[in-house]
Amino acid sequence: MTQRLCRVCMSWHDVENWPPKCVSVRSVARSDLPFPQLIRDFDEPVQSMADGQFYTNKAALRRSYRADGNPQGIAYEEVGSQDTRTAPERKPITEAEVATLLDKAEAKISRGEIPQATT
Ligand SMILES: [Zn+2]
Repeated sequence: MTQRLCRVCMSWHDVENWPPKCVSVRSVARSDLPFPQLIRDFDEPVQSMADGQFYTNKAALRRSYRADGNPQGIAYEEVGSQDTRTAPERKPITEAEVATLLDKAEAKISRGEIPQATT
């Protein structure tokens, strides 16, 4: 008979006979809102570039991009919905900047400012 400490009531329970009131249910919600995320259809009709038809339903529009959903029989790729955020470009440090930093560090040490050791 193995016992474990319960994190819900902070007492010991038998592993094979765990009380139902102490079973923690992990939340799978992506936010605190008590509502699932809804992906709405278009407010205005959108023309498919694959077959020229207008759609208000996103699933129907994307169906027209598939090879079996347009008269050309070509699978089209939807572009423009990618995440285009990138990290800012870091420019390399120059010799002059290194010399300035070294001069500042030397000046601090000569004034008696001893830097704290980092762990
Ligand atoms: Zn418990």
